[in-house]
Amino acid sequence: MQDWGAVAQERLETIAKVSEPGPGVTRLPFGPEHEAALEIITDWMQKARCKVTLDAAGTLIGRREGPEGAPTLLIGSHQDSVRAGGAFDGIMGVALGCLALEAIGDRALPFSVEVLAFADEEGVRFPTALIGPRALAGTLDPSVFAMVDKTGVSLGAALEAFGGDPEGTAALARDPVSVAGYVELHIEQGPVLEGEDKPLGVVTAISGIERHRVTITGEAGHAGTVPMEMRHDALLAASDLVRGVHDMARDHGIRATVGQLDVSPNVVNAIPARVDLTIEIRAAEDPARAAMGAALGPLCALIAEATATQIEIEKTYAQPAQACDAALREGLAAAVRNVTGEAAPELPSGATHDASAMADLCPITMLFLRCKGGISHNPAEYASAGDMGQAVSALAAFLSDFRLKA
Ligand SMILES: [Zn+2]
Repeated sequence: MQDWGAVAQERLETIAKVSEPGPGVTRLPFGPEHEAALEIITDWMQKARCKVTLDAAGTLIGRREGPEGAPTLLIGSHQDSVRAGGAFDGIMGVALGCLALEAIGDRALPFSVEVLAFADEEGVRFPTALIGPRALAGTLDPSVFAMVDKTGVSLGAALEAFGGDPEGTAALARDPVSVAGYVELHIEQGPVLEGEDKPLGVVTAISGIERHRVTITGEAGHAGTVPMEMRHDALLAASDLVRGVHDMARDHGIRATVGQLDVSPNVVNAIPARVDLTIEIRAAEDPARAAMGAALGPLCALIAEATATQIEIEKTYAQPAQACDAALREGLAAAVRNVTGEAAPELPSGATHDASAMADLCPITMLFLRCKGGISHNPAEYASAGDMGQAVSALAAFLSDFRLKA
């Protein structure tokens, strides 16, 4: 019997070399590395008995035709990486999707299958991302094609030079009736599965996100002359807020982060007069996220009063959670049980994925693979051959047992 994990490891090692120079993997969309990667992925898709095409949005599609008129089950992830990223994030899902089809061999399935290698999920080169899945879902805003990279090349020009067609992307939107669902395999990018000593986990939902901008205004003063009780220290207020946000998220069972702080005047001997900071909240359930978002205002008011500062807070961004489809989830869970002999943990995805955009088109589901130390976006990113082999077997079992809705 073929050792699919070993094959996956070897393929990922090979394609990891297709990178800009420097540590880890740097593979951005629509450049020479992307082109070289597609040559390798084309080979994977052909070995999986797929017909390979590049669509107008730069997504490489390997399609295995099912019975005429039958819907298509989509399997996908992204070919691109962050700068100095790892060899698994994104590309592993493409590799394992091809291997699951290869493992199925020439056994006929009652539906068509496509493996999708999306061009750009990380959004490193252009200040946008997810154009491939958005085009399929019919949610792509054509104004993104005017966005430029740091050398002044527009996304539209880069895509066109790559063999895509910005104007043709509107026609890529799929009819939801023609799509049975979307499955994505991805490293967890967190420590939960490793902590539970489990190779695979079934994703419950992709967390929603909201962001707030906070401005704290105090009063600058001499660090040596203004008594402590007479200060209006904006950074003291900020530190109370950082702690408050942390405790509140923990109490709500969700995630929240103060990730950015700008302090002014930011000098060694002056009382901080102003702090600008960001708060980001992520939760698998929108009501929990909304509850914490709503509680931030009163928290800021309390801290402002206690520190004799002024605090303004403004919500700048919100993206709803995307639940994974119950039937697809159960199918994946059963497949994992068959392969590993034990139940797969269920967990939310705190990170956005191609699946987030595909959820606007069709039911989605995701399978997470344990990754070493929970590390990602880093050259040290690692998933074992053994775990990848189990994931290939689980996806092949899922495909074999998948039944179309009557
Ligand atoms: Zn990814």
